[in-house]
Amino acid sequence: MKQPRVRYGPSPTGIPHIGNIRTALFNYLFAKNQNGKFFLRIEDTDQARIVPGAVEKIKESLKSLNLTWDEDIIVQSKRLDIYQKYLNDLKSKGFAYEDDGAWRFKIQTKDANISWQDEVHGTVSFPANVIEDFVIVKSDGYPTYHFASVVDDHDMGITHVMRGDEWISSTPKHILLYEAFGWQHPQFVHLPPILGADHKKLSKREGAKSVLEYIKEGYLPEAIVNFLALLGWSPIGEQEIFSLGELVSQFSLERINKNSPIFNIEKLNWFNQEWIKSLPPEEFKKKIEFQFPHKNAYKSTVTASIAPLVGSRITTLNDFPKIADPFYEEPKLDTLIVATTPLSGVTINQYAQKLEALDSWNPESIRSGTVSFAESKRVALKDLYRNLGVATFDSTVTPPLPESVTIIGKDKTIKRLDELAKLKK
Ligand code: GLU
Repeated sequence: MKQPRVRYGPSPTGIPHIGNIRTALFNYLFAKNQNGKFFLRIEDTDQARIVPGAVEKIKESLKSLNLTWDEDIIVQSKRLDIYQKYLNDLKSKGFAYEDDGAWRFKIQTKDANISWQDEVHGTVSFPANVIEDFVIVKSDGYPTYHFASVVDDHDMGITHVMRGDEWISSTPKHILLYEAFGWQHPQFVHLPPILGADHKKLSKREGAKSVLEYIKEGYLPEAIVNFLALLGWSPIGEQEIFSLGELVSQFSLERINKNSPIFNIEKLNWFNQEWIKSLPPEEFKKKIEFQFPHKNAYKSTVTASIAPLVGSRITTLNDFPKIADPFYEEPKLDTLIVATTPLSGVTINQYAQKLEALDSWNPESIRSGTVSFAESKRVALKDLYRNLGVATFDSTVTPPLPESVTIIGKDKTIKRLDELAKLKK
């Protein structure tokens, strides 16, 4: 195959949602797999629908997932003279006529069938007589989507048009345009849309949000890419966790599914957990700092050191403060939780003294000190840990305690146990 040239052609009518970005991702993966080019083309010929700031959001969304486009961005509204030139071409060939101030394409063969080999759907065929003469250049001088996209796809040397299924019914018009110009049309790859659990169009509530929103909610770009790639494409084998680079090397058009994938937030959560767990501590720290730029405390070395303790217990980065803040600051003990802890204040004080007397402060010494205290005082080990957990985390759900209080430090741990003991008296 010659090196493919593909494009992602969003209209700047809002922030692209993950379905749009999946189209961008598939284009990117295909291009990069074949050492081809991936272009970004802003389709802004419908001036009335342009939303200010949308282009920035489109760029930001792609950048956030590392989907870097090649060369300069193509902006259709800056190419009006090119469309004009091609309109003249069609006029001279008798394929365009003016009607009510707009230029229409003249369909000359009403009795033919228009068909193509779609890379996903196989042979697709439409009778030409269902298509009416359609507008190619509007009265405001701007081309319609159909005209601009065909002209640009040709001009840019696009080899594969990969886009959402909803454009299948427009494709016969595009093919007629290619034929009128005497050009060969590119391959068409129409992607089935991502659907909600009810098998209907994915709603905003169900997950049709932008990747920027997902990132803000604490999803890692790596997890989003991994999740989106498997929505409509299946790799060979059982592997599920793929980096962008691995996806690039495995991607193929043949393994795009004909059926619509179903969006499943549980699956995205799972990918996110797996990706968070696999982050090396320094990477984990970087992600946390990026997610919480105003939290100065998170910039300390503590963040990397608690990665193994906390990373496996959160679903999104936004779960971090709730479980991790006690590593950075004194928790305010909640009297209701304190009331649920077993053992007396006196016993807790004695336990604190026992810990204070330990020669070394590490998970093993804390564990064995706790076990020997439980045995000598005939109290249950789990009751001691319950108190240690509430004292240090103000919670009954904590990361592994001996490891955690090792990091919190001896002095602070003793202080927090004393605090708890005081509240129990
Ligand atoms: N501008 C169209 C859209 O927003 C792109 C269609 C195409 O890729 O040809 O979906």
